[in-house]
Amino acid sequence: MTEKHKQVDTSVIHDGYNPDDMLGSLTTPLFQTSTFTFETAEQGERRFAGEEDGYMYSRLGNPTVRVLEEKMAALENAERGLAFASGMAAVSAILVALTKANDHIVCSTGLYGCTFGLLSMMQDKYQITHDFSMMATKEELRTLIRPETACIYVETPINPTMKLIDLEMVAEVAHEHDIPVVVDNTFASPYLQRPLELGCDVVIHSATKYIGGHGDVIAGLAAGKKDFLDEVQMTTQKDMGGIMSPFDAWLLIRGLKTLPIRLDRHCDNAEKVYEKLRQHPNVSRVLYPNDASHPDYHIRQKQMKRGGGLISFEIKGTKQDAQQLLNNLNFIKIAVSLGDAETLIQHPATMTHSVVPEASRLNMGITDQLIRLSVGLEAWDEIWADIEQALNRL
Ligand SMILES: *Cc1c(COP(=O)(O)O)cnc(C)c1O
Repeated sequence: MTEKHKQVDTSVIHDGYNPDDMLGSLTTPLFQTSTFTFETAEQGERRFAGEEDGYMYSRLGNPTVRVLEEKMAALENAERGLAFASGMAAVSAILVALTKANDHIVCSTGLYGCTFGLLSMMQDKYQITHDFSMMATKEELRTLIRPETACIYVETPINPTMKLIDLEMVAEVAHEHDIPVVVDNTFASPYLQRPLELGCDVVIHSATKYIGGHGDVIAGLAAGKKDFLDEVQMTTQKDMGGIMSPFDAWLLIRGLKTLPIRLDRHCDNAEKVYEKLRQHPNVSRVLYPNDASHPDYHIRQKQMKRGGGLISFEIKGTKQDAQQLLNNLNFIKIAVSLGDAETLIQHPATMTHSVVPEASRLNMGITDQLIRLSVGLEAWDEIWADIEQALNRL
């Protein structure tokens, strides 16, 4: 392990890697290899017995992936990091590791669609039930915890309504009952929010989003206690096989170096676009947790460095008007995903949340008029000019 740096800007560049270990190579070499050779049969025996450190086979560990895992641990202030093939490979490996048949999970109302799908599958196949909660108060949360509750699973900010959950409060209640809190920290990124420092136990990221930041990789990361992630690595990851490829790790190491710079720019741009959206006559509501008018603004001040790069807003009109707005845009791209250099826009009701039954969707606040914007790194006034001309043409 190399020396850890206190400031995140230095840490993302230097932590987890020492050029002296790699022939002086400034950047992390790409170990694009499936397996590793042993000098002798006895060395192979010692490595498999865990008596000697060293690599054996890339599903069990790879030096390029290892550097990324150490950077992730430093960023989330965790004992260790663990890399996965996708955000969903991380979510599934962690949730399967934490549960057994007939257990129960308490989760935040409003989950990433495939996480919702995974929970439904676990319910059908293993009778692992779940309850949703807004987690607004300790009392609300306490009433849902049962003897068979295996973990609390939280997303905050919640997609796409931008509601926030107080992570410190959730961790306090969970620990009264000795159960772990797992946080999907994808929307905030470790630059804006560090759940482990607020008492939570495991953090998960879809590294596809802000951590990669360039729209060129699908990947996942987790961070937490060494004992727990060692166990995940040697059970649900090793045997279900959702590992990260060395090349994807190499791309993410490269992306991570600019995470703080990119996030500050995403936030600067989002703050400015938010102000403009609020004033437009064709917009009825703007959801961005960085303003005193947002109901969870106090939570944002408590646990997030800034408001993030995502804004949702409702237009006056119909579903067709919402679709027309997207079609009216010039350079802003219609796409799901988020956290890329490019500004991306999508219509949750017919895209990311189209599988959610209409009643639950409306209950979550996802109307036909709601639009989600992932504010990119372009010049903010050009982003706004594109949205403004599209709104004006409705
Ligand atoms: C994208 C996303 C995921 C899934 O990540 P993949 O890398 O696409 O598997 C999970 N949670 C959230 C909040 C996401 O945005």
